[in-house]
Amino acid sequence: MRGSIALACLLTLTACEAPRDPDREPTGQAPVTPKQTPPAVETPEEPEGATGPTAMTGATGSTGTSGMTGATGPTFLPPIAKLSDYAVNIIDSAAAAEAAKFLKYDGTAGTDGDLRVVTKAFYKEFPDAFDYIYVITQADVPGGDYGRSKPIHRAAIASIGHAQAVNLTDYGTTRLKNVIVLKWSAKGSGPTAHETLHSWGMHLDATLGFGTNNVGSHWGLVGANGQHGGFDPATLRCQSPKSATPLDCNPIAGQPGRFRYLVASFGTFANGGDTKPFSPIELYLMGLVPAADVQPILRPKNATSAGVDATTDSIDADGIEQTTVQQVVAKHGARPAATAAEKTLTGAFVVFSDATLSDEKFALVDEWAAVFGHHRQGKRPSFQTLTGGRATLSTAIGDPLP
Ligand SMILES: [Zn+2]
Repeated sequence: MRGSIALACLLTLTACEAPRDPDREPTGQAPVTPKQTPPAVETPEEPEGATGPTAMTGATGSTGTSGMTGATGPTFLPPIAKLSDYAVNIIDSAAAAEAAKFLKYDGTAGTDGDLRVVTKAFYKEFPDAFDYIYVITQADVPGGDYGRSKPIHRAAIASIGHAQAVNLTDYGTTRLKNVIVLKWSAKGSGPTAHETLHSWGMHLDATLGFGTNNVGSHWGLVGANGQHGGFDPATLRCQSPKSATPLDCNPIAGQPGRFRYLVASFGTFANGGDTKPFSPIELYLMGLVPAADVQPILRPKNATSAGVDATTDSIDADGIEQTTVQQVVAKHGARPAATAAEKTLTGAFVVFSDATLSDEKFALVDEWAAVFGHHRQGKRPSFQTLTGGRATLSTAIGDPLP
């Protein structure tokens, strides 16, 4: 399953980031190894309760699914076809087509749609009260990415590599941070947290050693161990002698100064969909932890992938270096702590479709949204849980415009 997903991902990957579109997924040329594209949605389930929310907030969620249901149900009119506490289905073929096209971006500027059709269709029905719009496509998008994120408004935060503010006009909003499009999944999950994280990362200067191996705005073959990829440094071992610390590795036969390292399976640009907590360096970029909480990040020097198996990835490198958060601060300046408003986020889940979604499909999206927003306990942790409780992201959608 993992292999087939990796292959499917690879087909959509292109080489490197276009500087003007730093938040798209890497595409094109194959990354270092097929398994470096981990399953965004095909992750083994976490044990129940292990990572799930511990305290639910808000309503438990009704899922009214018919129009004009009277005093006890949601009230809405076409083009809204279904509305619950946490999701909406809007009939709009143009918006549905634009969302699907956005996931099939091939790296050619201007070919993916700018998502203005999507946002305008949404704001015709709902107030400008959200930091994120999560568009779930109405069906699978063969050959498309699992998710992509487009910044609409973003403050300049030089300390995380955002030297320039982003303020796109004519989107029907002065508030929206990102439009996030996620490919339909019958599992009811995707790279939701990963795409949200693109509000903040990863745009650190290349001289810091991140974004290696053609992964664009992600960590690459480094020990960042987060939503944007990277291995778990606690699993780093020599191949020879087995289990020695990296500094004691024997060189590869015939390659003086070159070493083979083993780490637990990981992805260079993503790790396990909505199950992996944001890592300390990611929480730092988000302004949720101070620099002092970020351990040095190990970086195999001149790293190349040397193969994968079911549980272990092999990396060849000229030794192990590291980047400290002090180096990040020296390069970009100190990251200010997030303000209260920046830690109290909101998002709206919407499906644009040609025809009314089935009750079954709409219930799946409602569950996806309610769980991500920490309103309902589910199979996967919420955004709030993935931040260690340091930020919230409500997905309560509220009432449509009158
Ligand atoms: Zn990404």
